[in-house]
Amino acid sequence: MCEQCGPVDGAADAAEEEAIGGEPGRRVTSRRRLLLGAGAGLAVAVGGVPAFTRAASAATLKDGRWCNPARGRFPSGGHYGAPRGSYPHAGQDVSNSTGTAVYAAAAGTVVRRGTAVLSGRTGYGLVLSHGGGLYTYYGHLSVFRVALNAAVTAGQRIADMGATGNVTGPHLHFEVHSGGLGPTVDPVAHLAARGVDLGGGWPAIAPGASGATVRAVQHLMTQRGTALVADGVYGPVSVDAVKRFQSSRGLVADGVVGPKTWPGLVPSLREGHPGSHVRGLQTLLNKHSAGIAVDGSFGAVTDSATRAYQRANRLVADGLAGPVTWEALAG
Ligand SMILES: [Zn+2]
Repeated sequence: MCEQCGPVDGAADAAEEEAIGGEPGRRVTSRRRLLLGAGAGLAVAVGGVPAFTRAASAATLKDGRWCNPARGRFPSGGHYGAPRGSYPHAGQDVSNSTGTAVYAAAAGTVVRRGTAVLSGRTGYGLVLSHGGGLYTYYGHLSVFRVALNAAVTAGQRIADMGATGNVTGPHLHFEVHSGGLGPTVDPVAHLAARGVDLGGGWPAIAPGASGATVRAVQHLMTQRGTALVADGVYGPVSVDAVKRFQSSRGLVADGVVGPKTWPGLVPSLREGHPGSHVRGLQTLLNKHSAGIAVDGSFGAVTDSATRAYQRANRLVADGLAGPVTWEALAG
């Protein structure tokens, strides 16, 4: 975790580092358990601060435009609003090893890149502007993979996780700014409202969504027997197909491709398995900067891209696109 967001209270930080160092087991507590704790702590820590994500109309925000910036765990005390001296923690920490891929959480432009690019933050950081006064910040990076002023797509690899700056170990410090660069919101809640599970998990894609993940769903549905045009628009024809698929599986037929629907949609694939589902895989690999042909042929190139993705996300690099790899790619 880190001291992000404001002047550092040296004494408090030292005490915190000691506490964490002495309790390594706490680092691997499940993210969801920590999330529950984080929510409770937040109300206390920043109860008087007005900058919060609205929970309203969550379904309409699950439009496929946002995605998980990095795979990892939530370290103890790394939640939004955690006490950091006289300032609450401005982001959510996601722990993994140095070199783990960091992706753009949404399409945007790189508006800051360097060291200490925001007041009080340390180490290498990036700021993306997403328009409409929305920004995301990625801190403690080890490697930049995009240039300043570059336009990026959602899911594009923008950097590698690291431990630069004032940290106790490698992690991504992830912030969401709303209403301009400065006022932050809880990044976990911000992404959850948009169908994204920060740190890893199946996304939720609602009717009306668009983008690469929708294209992947359309390819997967085609493989399941309902030929869909892979136009990346989750319109009525695609939604009806998904609803029928959900009914056939005994699921709630709401047309939302979420954590209960995804596992039934994705097959386990490896080299030598051609088909439309491979196009789905290739589409999601490309969303994450693979740059391969979407040809439905799982050959050496797709195998290599799958392994590279797995390595970059700290998965078993066996070239087998199974549920864990699909979940990471879809998220
Ligand atoms: Zn942090």
